[in-house]
Amino acid sequence: MVLAQLGGSISRALAQMSNATVIDEKVLNDCLNEISRALLQADVQFKMVRDMQANIKRIVNLEALAAGTNKRRIMQQAVFTELCNMLDPGKPSFTPKKGKPSVVMFVGLQGSGKTTTCSKYAYYHQKKGFKPALVCADTFRAGAFDQLKQNATKAKIPFYGSYMESDPVKIAVEGVERFKKENCDLIIVDTSGRHKQEAALFEEMRQVSEATKPDLVIFVMDSSIGQAAFDQAQAFKQSVSVGAVIITKMDGHAKGGGALSAVAATKSPVIFIGTGEHIDDFEVFDVKPFVSRLLGMGDWSGFMDKIHEVIPTDQQPDLLQKLSEGSFSLRLMYEQFQNLLKMGPIGQAKIKRYMTMMDSMTDAELDSTNPKLMTESRIIRIARGSGRPVRDVMDMLEEYKRLAKIWGKMKGLKLQKKGDMSAL
Ligand code: GDP
Repeated sequence: MVLAQLGGSISRALAQMSNATVIDEKVLNDCLNEISRALLQADVQFKMVRDMQANIKRIVNLEALAAGTNKRRIMQQAVFTELCNMLDPGKPSFTPKKGKPSVVMFVGLQGSGKTTTCSKYAYYHQKKGFKPALVCADTFRAGAFDQLKQNATKAKIPFYGSYMESDPVKIAVEGVERFKKENCDLIIVDTSGRHKQEAALFEEMRQVSEATKPDLVIFVMDSSIGQAAFDQAQAFKQSVSVGAVIITKMDGHAKGGGALSAVAATKSPVIFIGTGEHIDDFEVFDVKPFVSRLLGMGDWSGFMDKIHEVIPTDQQPDLLQKLSEGSFSLRLMYEQFQNLLKMGPIGQAKIKRYMTMMDSMTDAELDSTNPKLMTESRIIRIARGSGRPVRDVMDMLEEYKRLAKIWGKMKGLKLQKKGDMSAL
C-alpha cells in the first residue's frame, strides 16, 4: 500500500522539525508544508489539506513547542487528531441488527469492486450469525449475475437474479420481497455500475432506492482512483443517500488518500476496506488504528521509539524484559504513568486521576493481568476510595485494556539476554 509512503513522509517532516534547535514560525510552516505536500501526493483533496493545515496551526501553540521537550510528539498528536477528524464523520447512518430485516443497497462505478464487495459483506455478516441474502439488480453488466451467483453459491448464501429480466427495479423489488418472506435479516442489493458517472446510472439508482427503501446505501470506491475520489463520491451522494463507504483494492498500489476525500464528500464513514480478491479479504475499518499505522505510531517501531523517548534509560531493560514476558499488569501501567508525567503537560490531569484511583487498589489488583478480576464490587470500592465516579474507574480500566493489547504485542519478543537493548 502506497499509503505507507504517506506515513513515512509525515514522520520525516516531524523528525526534521524536532531536530531544529529553535522552533519558530518558519520551522513550523516548513513542517506543515512538508506534511501538506505528502497528503496532496497521496491524493487527498486540496481543500481538505488546506483546512487541515489551518487547524493544526490553531491547535499547536508555538510557545509550547518552543518550551516543551517533546515537539515531535505535540505535532504528531495534532496531525493524528486532524487526520482522525478528517476520517471520522461519526457512525454510519444504520447498522444491521440480527433478526430484524434490513435492506442494504450497494452503489458504485463499474469495476470498483461492487459485486465482489457485496459477497464479502454478506459473508462477513453470515459469520457473525446473520442470515444474509444477495439480490443482483445489475442488469447492465453481462456476467454480473453469474459472478454474484458463483460467489453466493460458494459461500452458501441465498441469491436472486434473472438472465431475462432487464428491469433492475423489478428484480430488486422481487428479490427483497422474497427474502423478507424467507426471514433473511440482511438483504443486500447489488445495483448496476457504469464506466463513468452518467445520468442513466444515477436515475436507475434512484429508482431502485425508491422501490426497495434501503436502510443503508453503501458507496463502493476503488482506492486507486486518486484525486477524482472527491467528485465521484459527491456525485453519488447527491443522487442517493449514501450512509457508509467501502474502499476496495487497498492491497494494490493505491495511494489511498482518496479514502479521506470520499469521507469528506459523503460525510459518511468508511466501514470496511477490501484487501484482495478473495471473499475473506475484507477488514473492518477503524479510524484510530488506521491513522496510527499511517503515522507509524501504533506499529512496532513507533512503540519502540516511544519507549526510548519516555522511559529513563536505566529502567528500559527491566521494562522490556517484563513486556517480553507478556506480563503487563496495572502496576506496570502505574510505573509508566509516573514516567509519562515527567514528559510534559499532555494528559497529565488524566494520568493523575488514574493514579489516584490506582492508589485505592489492592496489591492483588495492581499485579493481576486478568481483567476479569475487576468485578463490579471492586470497581465501586475503588471509586469510593478515590472519590471518583465509577465511570472514571471504568475509563481507566478501558485504558489499561487498550495499552495491554498494544503492549501485549511485545510478548514473545526475543531478547538476547536480559537488558540487551541491541537485540531490538
Ligand atoms: P464491479 O463491476 O464494481 O461489480 O466490480 P467487481 O466486483 O466485478 O470487481 C472488479 C475487479 O476487481 C475484479 O477482478 C475483482 O476481483 C477485483 N477486486 C474487487 N475488490 C478487490 C480488492 O479489494 N482487492 C483486489 N486486489 N481486487 C479486488
